[in-house]
Amino acid sequence: MDLCIFCGMQWFKISRRRSRTTLIILLIAMLLLSLTGCSIASAAANSVINPNRQSAPHVAHLLPPVWTPTPESLPTKIILNSIQDLLITPTPTPAIPLYLYQKNLIIGYSVEGRPLEVFQFGSGPRDLLIVAGIHGGYEWNTIALADELISYLDEHPEMIHPRLSIHILRSLNPDGATLIDSPWGRGNANQVDLNRNWDSSWTSDIPKPNCWDLVPLTAGPQPGSEPETQALMQYILDTNMDALISYHSAGLGIFAGGKPSTQESLSLAEAIASVSNYPYPHIDIGCEYTGTLTDWAADNGVAAIDIELSSHWDTDFEQNLIILQSFLDWRP
Ligand SMILES: [Zn+2]
Repeated sequence: MDLCIFCGMQWFKISRRRSRTTLIILLIAMLLLSLTGCSIASAAANSVINPNRQSAPHVAHLLPPVWTPTPESLPTKIILNSIQDLLITPTPTPAIPLYLYQKNLIIGYSVEGRPLEVFQFGSGPRDLLIVAGIHGGYEWNTIALADELISYLDEHPEMIHPRLSIHILRSLNPDGATLIDSPWGRGNANQVDLNRNWDSSWTSDIPKPNCWDLVPLTAGPQPGSEPETQALMQYILDTNMDALISYHSAGLGIFAGGKPSTQESLSLAEAIASVSNYPYPHIDIGCEYTGTLTDWAADNGVAAIDIELSSHWDTDFEQNLIILQSFLDWRP
């Protein structure tokens, strides 16, 4: 009995303890249910107010507030062509905006790896060539003139007859062009005078009496030894050029190519002389010119002349625009 009474009291105690535990569990369950219910209700409410809200944070984390394209993020087609090399080319003159060119190509590289850039206008079968910067350094203004002519032709395509193509090599000696105003810039990075390196009356002994001798440049170990010479030689032969003008500075006038000058070169020199103020025949300083571009070109059937600008600082643009028109109109 005692045991029963005891058992009854124990049951009562256990029962009260169970009730309290059950109550606590019920309270916790209700609390959890109410919290879950709130968040479900809140999510449901939000989804009604803004159905896209859940994806928005992802976009915001992926993109910066203002997205700026980088070269790496642009489509490859936009940046990949020969202009790509132009972007890394050190030049003594301001670069021309890329959209101006009708067609440009790289025909080779200098000793130090700079590109030799040709800009072509027109696609006719008769090919004319202008070469600037065969001497760099203090003759930088020939490259500046080439850039001006390229810009002008781009804006005035009507100048080019359908049967013509004109090619402008803006800097044959880009290594020398980095040494603006320096006599060393006349030569390439091997200290070779590129206008003494051609296979026409070539001699190794330069400078000669009465010739330019401010610094001791060479004619190269043999004719056509330099990569710049080789690249232009190949381009002239491959393109089958009809005529060329090679620009220098300063002051000596117009030289007709060939030893003796060829009829085609004389004809071109006279046509250009008739519309310009540059001295013709050229001023004779008693220098014997050897291994020159224009002599080699004339030997290979190209009408070729040198034109010396009037100074080392002016491009003589107006006068050379008239010369350009005369060059485009010229026939042998
Ligand atoms: Zn020169």
